[in-house]
Amino acid sequence: MHNVVIIGSGPAGLTAAVYTARANLAPLMIEGSQAGGQLTLTTDVENFPGFPQGIMGPQLIQDMRAQAERFGTAFQTADVTKVDLSRRPFTVTINDEETIQTRSLIISTGASANLLGLDSESRLLGHGVSTCATCDGFFFRGQPIVVIGGGDSAMEEATFLTKFASHVTIVHRRDKLRASKIMQDKAIKNDKISFRWNSMVEEVLGDDVVTGLRLRDVVTNDMATLDCKGVFVAIGHTPNTQLFRGQIETDANGYIQTSHGTATNVPGVFAAGDVQDPHYRQAITAAGTGCMAAMDAERFLEAEG
Ligand code: NAP
Repeated sequence: MHNVVIIGSGPAGLTAAVYTARANLAPLMIEGSQAGGQLTLTTDVENFPGFPQGIMGPQLIQDMRAQAERFGTAFQTADVTKVDLSRRPFTVTINDEETIQTRSLIISTGASANLLGLDSESRLLGHGVSTCATCDGFFFRGQPIVVIGGGDSAMEEATFLTKFASHVTIVHRRDKLRASKIMQDKAIKNDKISFRWNSMVEEVLGDDVVTGLRLRDVVTNDMATLDCKGVFVAIGHTPNTQLFRGQIETDANGYIQTSHGTATNVPGVFAAGDVQDPHYRQAITAAGTGCMAAMDAERFLEAEG
């Protein structure tokens, strides 16, 4: 019987592990078969306070893990394949074979940025291809940038990126935007933003770093090359909540709903990080809610005696 099981090993889960371990709760973290979350897919992280020279994403995760381990967190490198949250203690099934029981549960399974699914895109991820303007915009000062997508995220990221870029081109697969009117207007009125309509990305060009995109016009089927140094894919995120479907309240997009800090609708189950946050999606905000979840879980266990 465990006091706290933490599912997911990004900054939210690892911060929850540091706090619950230091509270003598002997947490068990099920870190997934691909541990570390989205930070392991980034290169330089310059906006996580405490690192004046910046730090590589994978290194930051490795350091957080070592810190959690130092205070007694146990790790299992495996996937949770099933949970039963209908009664306490909760049952967690690992790799379809082992079941464990826990008095409280912290869900920090994160969200995944949707990608186009091109080989060239995954090869150049972190080398010019990014899914986070706040994180990586600064690296493209004075350079031409492309944002892919037609929703609010694409408009927001494009507008933000004009602070750095020489020019921002929004590439959208239709001739109408999905974004809200106000966000559209802001982008359309911005002199540094132009639009490439009815265009699909066929390939991200470049050997070691991005040099451009090969685009196909979906109406005429014409191919064209668009030079750029940075490509920001802003076609939505998917929260990793499939495992909890039907057992935990989520919003229409699948994000876990929390109230009073990190509490879910199931007493004893807490959610932290991107899995419950469609808005901020930063390593530091994930870490902040990880801390909150640990303290919420500790209070819950205390109240339960
Ligand atoms: P979204 O609204 O789902 O928009 C995704 C965009 O990506 C759409 O324009 C879609 O094209 C395009 N797309 C999807 N798959 C694609 C593919 N494979 N290839 C090319 N294009 C693709 O996602 P979002 O913009 O991330 O917004 C998510 C939610 O957060 C929305 O409810 C949004 O309002 C909200 N949000 C709000 C704010 C704000 O108010 N400040 C900021 C960001 C997000 P189609 O249009 O053709 O489907």
